[in-house]
Amino acid sequence: MTRWGRLLVRSLGWDALRCNSTPKKLTNLGRAHLNCRLGRMWVASHPYVLIVDVTNLCNLRCRFCPTGRGEYGRQKGILPLATFQQFIDELKPYLYLALLYDWGEPLLNGELPRMIAYAEQNNICTSVHSNLCVRDDGALRELVDAGLSHLTVSVDGVDPCSYRSFRTGGDFALVMRNLAGLLEYRSRSGRRKPRITWKYVVHRANEAYVEKARQMAREIGVDAFLAATIQSEDSSVLPRGTFGSMPGQDQKRCSWLWTTVVLHWDGCIGPCCYQFRQEDDFGRYEPGEFMRIWNNDRFQVARGLFGGAGGAELPPPVLCLHCHKVESRRR
Ligand code: SF4
Repeated sequence: MTRWGRLLVRSLGWDALRCNSTPKKLTNLGRAHLNCRLGRMWVASHPYVLIVDVTNLCNLRCRFCPTGRGEYGRQKGILPLATFQQFIDELKPYLYLALLYDWGEPLLNGELPRMIAYAEQNNICTSVHSNLCVRDDGALRELVDAGLSHLTVSVDGVDPCSYRSFRTGGDFALVMRNLAGLLEYRSRSGRRKPRITWKYVVHRANEAYVEKARQMAREIGVDAFLAATIQSEDSSVLPRGTFGSMPGQDQKRCSWLWTTVVLHWDGCIGPCCYQFRQEDDFGRYEPGEFMRIWNNDRFQVARGLFGGAGGAELPPPVLCLHCHKVESRRR
């Protein structure tokens, strides 16, 4: 496979590429990566990946997560369906993927199935990441019926004790019941989607159970198992072994500033999934005004950190200045 082909598959996955490509999307994707490579600060290309924080509310209190610790960085709330639809309408000629999660539990937004269905009807592949710790079978079945493409379920343990060492307030038995119920419903309804991944975030207290979890995942019948090392500045919680990294963690250049955009529940725009505090927002969405925000001073100055020339003479966004991607370029 060519380098270009590998890049496409790595960025999007086969499903999104195969099912959702149009000449306009492909051209935009190529221009976005060319702009990234050239370090252009003002761009005519659009993002082709959308991350939507459909809510920043969560039902768990995971100690390694800012939301779980109550550090929301903005008011708590739920994205209205109408705002989501306006945003999709503006970007749908270019979007391959909509990731409908970021800092909260997406199933707490009751409009999630309508959002999935709207995006999928508009030829955009959807993905949801959930703790699956809900007592509503109907809501889970709605995900399947809405046409969701990918579902990642966070299960970082193999029994209640190992699971709760991370997922404070979670119910391991409930999650496993829901996972089995979802797989059974998908099979009964004759669908191949959503593709379901068991994700195991590895930290010091649960690293001994990774292989057992992999075996359980095989037995229950999920489509994939992913072990990824926790991101933490506290070295005492890091695993001693080597596991996979979180998506995007190992990149040195920030392609997100050219390819991806984040819509928060309150209509604010962010540059990447690390960002959750309101003071780090890059703008606020107004219908019909997306490209003005996409090329505002904050986006341009942030892109300039990766080799761009000219543009606004403003201090770079604090968030990016302290990002490992920028720091690794200075070394
Ligand atoms: S914080 Fe890092 S990953 Fe996020 S947009 Fe800035 S440079 Fe990119």
